[in-house]
Amino acid sequence: MKFDFVIVGAGSAGCVIANRLSANPANKVALIEAGGRDRYPWIHIPVGYFKTMGNPRTDWCYKTEPDPGLNGRALNWPRGKVLGGSSSINGLLYVRGQPQDFDHWRQLGNDGWGWDDVMPLFRRAENWEGRSLPERGTGGPLNVSENKVNRQVVDAWLQAAVAAGYRWTDDYNAEDQEGIGYFQMTMKNGRRCSAAAAYLKPVLSRPNLTVIVNAHTETLLLEDGEAKGVRIRHEGMVKEVRASREVVLSAGAIGSPQILMLSGIGPGDDLREHGIEVRTNLPGVGQNLQDHLQARPVYKCRASTINSEIRNVFKLAGMAFEYAFHRSGPMAMAASLGTGFIKTEPTMETPDIQFHIQPFSADSPAEGSHRFSAFTASVLQLRPESKGELKLRSSNPMDHPRIFPNYLATKTDCDTLVNGIKITRRICGYDPVRSLITDEFSPGQAINGDNDAAILEWARNTSTTIYHPSGTCKMGKDPMAVVDPRLRVHGVGRLRVADASIMPTITSGNTNAPAIMIGEKVSDMLMEDAG
Ligand SMILES: Cc1cc2nc3c(=O)[nH]c(=O)nc-3n(C[C@H](O)[C@H](O)[C@H](O)COP(=O)(O)OP(=O)(O)OC[C@H]3O[C@@H](n4cnc5c(N)ncnc54)[C@H](O)[C@@H]3O)c2cc1C
Repeated sequence: MKFDFVIVGAGSAGCVIANRLSANPANKVALIEAGGRDRYPWIHIPVGYFKTMGNPRTDWCYKTEPDPGLNGRALNWPRGKVLGGSSSINGLLYVRGQPQDFDHWRQLGNDGWGWDDVMPLFRRAENWEGRSLPERGTGGPLNVSENKVNRQVVDAWLQAAVAAGYRWTDDYNAEDQEGIGYFQMTMKNGRRCSAAAAYLKPVLSRPNLTVIVNAHTETLLLEDGEAKGVRIRHEGMVKEVRASREVVLSAGAIGSPQILMLSGIGPGDDLREHGIEVRTNLPGVGQNLQDHLQARPVYKCRASTINSEIRNVFKLAGMAFEYAFHRSGPMAMAASLGTGFIKTEPTMETPDIQFHIQPFSADSPAEGSHRFSAFTASVLQLRPESKGELKLRSSNPMDHPRIFPNYLATKTDCDTLVNGIKITRRICGYDPVRSLITDEFSPGQAINGDNDAAILEWARNTSTTIYHPSGTCKMGKDPMAVVDPRLRVHGVGRLRVADASIMPTITSGNTNAPAIMIGEKVSDMLMEDAG
């Protein structure tokens, strides 16, 4: 199998690259995906994330190592394993991040990655259904729609936040992120708009694009210091897929560093420990792991929430009917309805925490929603300082790597999360949400509002990932950088990495839109460099 470009991973970034490169009929492109086709119906029904997460048909089902910052708890880390990657199982929330995030990337030495450089790529990617603004795009493959589902308790929480003194925003994806508002979603006509639906499906008939599914990439084929293709396990056989121009790893923040390390590109001592010949000693591979950790206060309430509605057989039937005939209602709901990006200290330049307001509650997605009516006011720190790492478990490509998230390892991270929880509680003390709340289920009244140590302990015992691992093949010029600003792997020819792993610092918000932007950006660079 010989191609010009071989892309590994049909996720948020990989689907974009496959589309853009194959738009030129002269480019012969292969897209290799370990998961299957996205035929499972729950992928396309927005609320289907409850069925796809933790399901080996669509999820890698990674698990972290016990984390000291979480008092030794290990977390499930879902990652999409299907066409569309994590964009096929995610919560559909569309957030670009703060302009300052990208200016900071540029400031770190990454020319071409400032807000002015990347904003046109966000615009090119999207078809925004909402109010027209200079920063927003129309006509792009990725459909972004406004929130269409309302629940009294979420509306009330957002109004209470404004009553508490936080300003309203109609569009946190424009020039200024700060404010309280409704989430925007990657959805089209009530169906999930994954990267596969947006970028891949419309171009599958191109004769110069070959999509190989159920094909696990084991290692790179390296010859004379250059990537010449990949070795895959497909249909029970080991095969070679060769690239005459370039190989692009878009296997995500877990998959990309794992493939590099299995190929002998990574921290030399670690590789030797597993009997892997060191081809390029790159100590930064698998390091710089960042994620958003969410604390999840839950409030019992007298308003109707999804918890209670799904236990009423008539309401459940009504939801199914509404979705089947109108593609609307709770089945067309993103993982959260309300959000807010605010500063824990007014003197800060930009927001440092984000809310996810959900009209339901659960101890964990696997255990199903609580039996009482309640809502969740989740809060997270946008730019954590704590950094984890990813290490090989063995030299067997089928083994999951070991994931050490290292949450809440710095004082700033602990203080910010505690402040965020206190702000959440404060907002819940304002009307109109106050009069809907019957009880704080969690943290609960036993944890006093002034007792920071007890709040932190509760956060360590209950917080969980909001599924944004990134940074494990960071872009930059320092010794720990894995790729340069054109996403070429340092010290290896004809090889790039393009996905959430290249983020030098995590963006201030959910990471799907930035991963898609990274796919757009690398496509331009690949085409420029190919002349
Ligand atoms: C449950 C969940 C909810 C989320 N919710 C949101 C949200 O609401 N909003 C948001 O913005 N972000 C959300 N995210 C995060 C966001 O979806 C990801 O950051 C983004 O999709 C990452 O894109 P990527 O291209 O880096 O990787 P991915 O989209 O994960 O793509 C990587 C692809 O590579 C494939 N792959 C990996 N290893 C191999 C291999 N060895 N061989 C072949 N193929 C391989 C994978 O199967 C996958 O298809 C969520 C993520 C999850 C998992």
